[in-house]
Amino acid sequence: MLKGIKEPLFAAYYDNNIHKVLDILNDKNQFSVVQCAPAVRVAIAEDFGMDLGSLTPGKMAAALRKLGFDRVYDTNFSADLTIMEEGTELIERVTKNEKLPMFTSCCPAWVKYMEQSHPEYLDHLSTCKSPQQMAGAIFKTYGAKLDNKSAKDIASVSIMPCTCKSFESERKEMNSSGERDVDVVLTTRELAYLIKEMDIDFVNLQEENFDQPLGNYTGAGNIFGVTGGVMEAAIRTGYELITNQPIDSVDVVAVRGNKNFSESIIKVGDLELKVAVVAGLKNVEPIIEAMKNGKADYHFVEVMTCPEGCISGGGQPKVLLPKHKPMAYENRISGTYQHDSESKLRKSHENPAIKKLYKDFLKNPLGHKSHELLHTKYYSRKDK
Ligand code: SF4
Repeated sequence: MLKGIKEPLFAAYYDNNIHKVLDILNDKNQFSVVQCAPAVRVAIAEDFGMDLGSLTPGKMAAALRKLGFDRVYDTNFSADLTIMEEGTELIERVTKNEKLPMFTSCCPAWVKYMEQSHPEYLDHLSTCKSPQQMAGAIFKTYGAKLDNKSAKDIASVSIMPCTCKSFESERKEMNSSGERDVDVVLTTRELAYLIKEMDIDFVNLQEENFDQPLGNYTGAGNIFGVTGGVMEAAIRTGYELITNQPIDSVDVVAVRGNKNFSESIIKVGDLELKVAVVAGLKNVEPIIEAMKNGKADYHFVEVMTCPEGCISGGGQPKVLLPKHKPMAYENRISGTYQHDSESKLRKSHENPAIKKLYKDFLKNPLGHKSHELLHTKYYSRKDK
């Protein structure tokens, strides 16, 4: 049984989400499931004095199990699922030449920006929920079945690099399991704080694996944590789905985003796919302007709010000295690509757990069940 927080005054500084997680872990009637975003595993170790950008997925999984979660699953799994849905959606839009360019929708701050500033272009956002919300919906439906539970027995917690993810989990449409799909979101820093408070020796933990099948992931799911990663993962799968041929190089370095804006043409069979990768919301304005003038000839645009993607999110460990920030980000990025290149499988459509999920439950990408659980709608917030 976990006790409460030891330092009440310091704890008061934190959002009471930590207390909500403790309540879940102490409640024997709740079956607790946790997921971790890709960017968390290359940053959390910094809060325990380890080197900037240390890659520690195994220690993170072990720490979450020690905290008492019944299932330690992974957002990387649902990042692979996002690629199946978003890639299929892109192929459909390109084939029909409709609602192009298609924008990614996994950054909730970007989605909210579109709802507030450019609601007339909301139908250009992919209808795919973010990996966090896809995971929440799957945990409380398919996952519930695997554990002989119902959605209301499950408490679903996610560990994310930013606070916008909490806002996203509270959107009224994020309850396709019949319950709220993600109940509580902790940031990376909050999880590190909780681990310390519970006297878990993170640095010396033996590495453990994520639980199967919903913690199974490919390298493509992992690179969602960096700018350009969603685009690269989508190209790896999209290329093979369209051409039925293996992609020449799994490393699609042309779209690796190390700038605020980059564009490239990717040859996919007979199709020349024009794509752009944008980091920072002000950098998307030229594309919106081009759309207004009928001159935006992109097929697919990835937009992330944070400068390097989620590895630099606001909920990540603080880098105390500003001069160390570039090194921290560089190390977090190289840790992310290292994890990808060391993965046995590096394309989302090759994930065996994803194949089984479609075979046994969802049937087809963009099918009826996928629409019900994995896709969403957006609303204008212009006058709110
Ligand atoms: Fe959150 Fe930043 Fe990632 Fe967007 S890019 S999901 S704001 S951490």
